[in-house]
Amino acid sequence: MKNKRSNLEKHTVACPHCGFPVLDHMTECPKCHGELKPSGYQPMDEKKIRKIRWITYSIGAVISVVIIILIILYRK
Ligand SMILES: [Zn+2]
Repeated sequence: MKNKRSNLEKHTVACPHCGFPVLDHMTECPKCHGELKPSGYQPMDEKKIRKIRWITYSIGAVISVVIIILIILYRK
């Protein structure tokens, strides 16, 4: 339990606007709604987003086709 707490504290930073403790991955302070720059935060690059989107659409299309085929096969 003690380890878990210190691990959480490691990811806690003070808000530069109001000093409120916020987690380092947050982009907005929950108290003053000031903008935060999370450490280690990297915006996803466009190519990666497109690739993920394409894979998601492909899987969705395959699942749809399989479902349609199953409906046709089992509909008698
Ligand atoms: Zn703040």
